[in-house]
Amino acid sequence: QPEPTSSLTFSQFELDSRIKQATQAMGFDHPTEVQAAVIPLANESKDLWVCAKTGSGKTAAFLIPALQHLLQNCPEDSAAKVLILAPTRELAKQTHKQCRQLAEFTPIKSGMIIGGEDFKKQSALFAKSTAIIIATPGRLIEVIEEGSADFSRLDLLILDEADRMLDMGFKNDLLKIASVCKPERQTLLFSATLNPTIKGIALTLLKEPEKVYLDGIQAEHEDIEQQMLLADDFEHKKKLLIWLLSHETYEKALVFTNTKIHTDQLRGPLRGQKLRVGSLHGDMDQSERNKTMGFFRDGTIDILVATDVAARGLDIEGVDLVINFDLARNGNDYLHRIGRTGRAGRPGLAIALINSTEWNVLAGIERYLQQRLIRRTIKELEGRYK
Ligand code: ADP
Ligand code: MG
Repeated sequence: QPEPTSSLTFSQFELDSRIKQATQAMGFDHPTEVQAAVIPLANESKDLWVCAKTGSGKTAAFLIPALQHLLQNCPEDSAAKVLILAPTRELAKQTHKQCRQLAEFTPIKSGMIIGGEDFKKQSALFAKSTAIIIATPGRLIEVIEEGSADFSRLDLLILDEADRMLDMGFKNDLLKIASVCKPERQTLLFSATLNPTIKGIALTLLKEPEKVYLDGIQAEHEDIEQQMLLADDFEHKKKLLIWLLSHETYEKALVFTNTKIHTDQLRGPLRGQKLRVGSLHGDMDQSERNKTMGFFRDGTIDILVATDVAARGLDIEGVDLVINFDLARNGNDYLHRIGRTGRAGRPGLAIALINSTEWNVLAGIERYLQQRLIRRTIKELEGRYK
C-alpha cells in the first residue's frame, strides 16, 4: 500500500461524483503523492512527464484524469478517445481491471489490445465505441498495420512504464503509434526511472511538458553527472582523491567522509599536494567552523573535507564537484550530499569512490535513486584530461 499524502481526500478534487464514488468503493481514501500532483495538472490538459517509483499509485494517477476527461467532454458513444500503452499483457490486464473499477458507476467502456487474444475482437473495438483502449505496443502495431485501428480522434495518449517499454525495444513502435494518433492531443508519460533514452522519447512525444518527479528523483539532480570509481583501501582512495582534485576542473569541491578521523587523515596529505583545503567536523567549536566556512565562501580555500553532520545545512554557491570519499550510508544521505552541487547552466559532477565493502551500500543507493551511477575507470578519466 502506498503512503497516503496527509489529509487530502479525493472529495477535495474537482472530479465527477461517479469517480469519487468509485475511489470510495475501492477503499482509496486519500490520494497518493503522485496522484495529488498529477490529477489537477492532467485535468488542465497539460502534457506531463511523471517519474515516481513503483508502487506509488501511478495507475490511478492517469486513469482518473482520463475518466474525468471523458465524462466532461465526450459523448457516450465515443470510440478510441484514450489510448494507454503498457509494456506487458499482465500490466495491461491489471490496468484494465483498475480502469473498470474506477469506471464502475459510469457508462464508459474500455477494452484491451494485447497479444495472445482474439485479433478480430480487438480490431472490432474501434467500431464498438470503446472509449479507452489499453494496449501493448507489439500487438497494437499489428492492428494498425492491418488497417482497422483509428486514432484520428484520440484526445489522450498515455505511456505507462515508458522506461520498461524502451528497455524492451519498443522505441520505434512507440514513435509509430504516436504518429497515427491525432496530433492535437494530450500526452502523459510515466516511468519509474529517469535515463537518457527516456529523455529522448519524452522530448519527441511531449509538448512543453510539466515535469512531476517524486521520491528522490528530483529535477535538479538531472543536471548532476553521477560517476563512481572503483577503489581499494584508504591509501588507494587517498591517491585517487588527490588525482581527481588535481585534474578535475571545479570552482569549489566538497569531499565527504563518514568519520572525523578520515577528515583529519585527509587534510594533511592534501595540503602536502599544495591543494587549498579546509576541513569541517562535528567536534569543532563554532568560531573555528565559521572561520573555515568563511575561507571556503570567499575562495581562500576551494576544497572542503567534511562529515555529513558538519555539512548539514551548508549552502554555498559555486560547489560544482562533490566527492564521496566514503560512500554515504544510505540513499537519502547520498542525495543530500550530491544535492549541494550543480549550478545553473553548468552541470555538477558527483564522484563516489567505492571499495569492495561499499558495494552493498551502493546497490541500495542505486535502488533508492532508481538510477545507476556511471562506472568510470581512472584510465578513462586520464584520457579525458589528455
Ligand atoms: P505504480 O504504477 O506506481 O507502481 P500502482 O498504480 O500499481 O502503482 O498502485 C500500487 C498499489 O496501490 C495498487 O494495489 C493500488 O490499488 C494501490 N493504490 C493506488 N492508489 C491508492 C490510493 N489512493 N489509496 C490506496 N491504495 C492505492
Ligand atoms: Mg504502474
